[in-house]
Amino acid sequence: MGRVSAARRPKGSIRERGNSLQVRLYAGQDPVTGKPVYLVDTVRGTDVAAYRKAENKLAEFRTQVNKQRSAESSVELSFALDEWLRTSDIEDSTRKTYVGYIERTIKPAIGGQPVKKVNARMMESLYTELRRCRARCDGKPYIEKHKSRDSHDCAEKKCKAHKCSGMAASTVRQIHSILSGALGAAARWEWIDTNPALMARRPKQKPPEPDPPTPAQAARLVEEAFRMDDDWGTLVWLVMTTGMRRGELCGLRFNRLELDTEMIHLRRNWVGGKEKDTKTHQIRRIALDSETMTLLREHRARVAERVRSLGGEFTDDLFVFTGTRTPDHKEPYSPNAVTQRYKDMADRLSIKTHLKQLRHYSATELLTAGVDLRTVAGRLGHGGGGATTLRVYAAWVAASDRKAAEILGSRMPKRVRN
Ligand SMILES: [Zn+2]
Ligand SMILES: [Zn+2]
Repeated sequence: MGRVSAARRPKGSIRERGNSLQVRLYAGQDPVTGKPVYLVDTVRGTDVAAYRKAENKLAEFRTQVNKQRSAESSVELSFALDEWLRTSDIEDSTRKTYVGYIERTIKPAIGGQPVKKVNARMMESLYTELRRCRARCDGKPYIEKHKSRDSHDCAEKKCKAHKCSGMAASTVRQIHSILSGALGAAARWEWIDTNPALMARRPKQKPPEPDPPTPAQAARLVEEAFRMDDDWGTLVWLVMTTGMRRGELCGLRFNRLELDTEMIHLRRNWVGGKEKDTKTHQIRRIALDSETMTLLREHRARVAERVRSLGGEFTDDLFVFTGTRTPDHKEPYSPNAVTQRYKDMADRLSIKTHLKQLRHYSATELLTAGVDLRTVAGRLGHGGGGATTLRVYAAWVAASDRKAAEILGSRMPKRVRN
């Protein structure tokens, strides 16, 4: 590494252009646009003296480019990360997450390293460290947070002592993809020869483990939800029967409910406090059963009445579900609030589950009932292909198979053992 390879050593060219000479030298890629940059100059005349001048100019250019290269070779990882973030097209909520990991985790650990020195070994050792302790402590006990600034006895004040907790494999994988993005850009910009992240091993991804509620638990959950209030009951019912994503649920407006054709049209998503289009392959219309339709019609009428009673006007643009603090339905239900409310409800019923499992519930129930995988995947908005999708399918089929076995088992005549 370090030196410029022969193939890339700048040679440059001198070409006759009418009555003058054009000197031209490739100076690498523009770090921002990724386009090639050339140093260009013109020397008057085409005689020997002009050629000598042109040669001198070219030598000057080479010195300039070499200087620039050696300056670039000392670029720190922090700078590469900043430049990559600045020049890439990343969705807002993702960007926020990335900035968090970059500032809190990556930069303090290896941000000061020259990009040329970052290698697979360095990355892997960082990942191992993070899996052991997210604070990357040295193993000696220390107080994480003091209860007071004045001198005091920590034991007496019960100041918070550090306890190692490793980062989740999925988080470390995210850190890896940030490093891979930034180092890939550094390679494109010719600050390094290759992207070391391509070689580095990242922690394995845990397979999805669907643990959907049993039909009996699902019945209790939906019953309790309706007991709490009709809006909430309708929400839980809808997620259970459609398997829609939380973002899709929160982003749902009345104009997406096709009351006459008994379909629901999912194309918007509520992510990170913003409305955005669902990934193209996930846009879908799904059929609703008549019970669900009845509930939705009732819900619509209820919301319309409430909005009017508040002096507002009911329009189809309003959100179908909203939090208690925004009874005018102009704001969507906060995704986190939905998750929390569902979790609290399940806890009260002593059912260990969370909202996401309702999606698995829909999938496995349909598969167990004999609906084919393609239809199920379509309903749940999986476009097919892709490693993640395939792993989820496999998990659904396995869960549904387990259920099928249980059903069969429960219907077998009991054997009497002597
Ligand atoms: Zn203390
Ligand atoms: Zn620690």
